[in-house]
Amino acid sequence: MKKIQMVDLVSQYEKIKPQVQSAINTILDKAQFINGPDVESFKTELGDYLGAAHVVPCANGTDALQIAMMALGLKPGDEVITPSYTYIATTEVIGLLGLKPVFVDCEKDTFNISPKAIEAAITSKTKAIVPVHLYGQSCDMEAIMAIAEKYDLKVIEDNAQAIGSDYTFSDGTKKKTGTIGHVGCTSFFPSKNLGCYGDGGALCTQDEQLAEKLAMVANHGQSKRYYHDMVGCNSRLDSIQAAVLRIKLNLLDEYIDARREAADYYDSRFKNIDALTIPYRAQNTKHVFHQYTLQLTDDVNRDELVAFLGKKDIPAMIYYPVPAHAQKMFATIETSSGKLENTDWLTSRVFSLPMHTELEKDQLQYICDAVIEFIEQ
Ligand SMILES: *Cc1c(COP(=O)(O)O)cnc(C)c1O
Repeated sequence: MKKIQMVDLVSQYEKIKPQVQSAINTILDKAQFINGPDVESFKTELGDYLGAAHVVPCANGTDALQIAMMALGLKPGDEVITPSYTYIATTEVIGLLGLKPVFVDCEKDTFNISPKAIEAAITSKTKAIVPVHLYGQSCDMEAIMAIAEKYDLKVIEDNAQAIGSDYTFSDGTKKKTGTIGHVGCTSFFPSKNLGCYGDGGALCTQDEQLAEKLAMVANHGQSKRYYHDMVGCNSRLDSIQAAVLRIKLNLLDEYIDARREAADYYDSRFKNIDALTIPYRAQNTKHVFHQYTLQLTDDVNRDELVAFLGKKDIPAMIYYPVPAHAQKMFATIETSSGKLENTDWLTSRVFSLPMHTELEKDQLQYICDAVIEFIEQ
């Protein structure tokens, strides 16, 4: 059996090696490292895949969130509603820009931000909501967009974990995650569902004026070279990363199928185990399984389980052991929080198993056997 890894990027690379090497060599031969033709082509191809009118590439997913908040004109003191149960980047950027993070609870089944909790947290200072499509399935975007419209708020989707997922509205309309709010942000960190071979990120929007502003912010606030109309930043996607992403974008749906197949197998083995709750799959979204995350009942010791798996060379991770509102980072920043019962409960009870595109049947069997062995011992 091949060594089990949380994410196996080496085996994935083996399958596309000649294409990747030839694409990178072309860039090296022409020294088109910055803003080369691959960046332009990738913008179009990603826009076509997502159904987004405009794509603005940038240096990473954290920058994408920052650029979105700057381009939307959010000002220090403005309140931004965010889940506490997320990767730190989402909430960190809010603090970095002097905005006030307002942490709200998630739903216990989907792990995603609760629309009810969002509405309860709205004040006269609220300006934006940042739904995070955690682990690979969409937040309840119909409810979130309705709240945004009612209170005139901007919606910035954090789509770093769910690229390729979609959401079906009650009238049957289907949209890809990241294209539903005013702006969508994503990350191409190597382990993400669409990952490059370094750092990368992108924003997308249907709004042409906003797209121009996003591009300006990402490029030193300039629309014309050496004329800087606003304070921006320097955030670019390298040509080499764009070339890798063009190859992998063509395979993204296959990659998603492979992840879903692994998840189906895990589900089939765990669904009747009382001590485990398998990931809930909401009806109106396609789960693209960035992570496969289980909930443990109170009688199972999570640390002992992770150690037991470790001894059998099975990696398991806790995403995330400390929710944002409890991070020291926010001790000196003004924040506010709703009730975070589900967030606090989940961060103490979840664990994630290996999830990637190259998991083999014998590896999956071995992982499931070990988890079940621990629980039944
Ligand atoms: C990975 C991730 C980010 C940040 O992306 P980087 O490219 O690492 O900056 C933001 N939000 C979420 C939910 C993520 O998973």
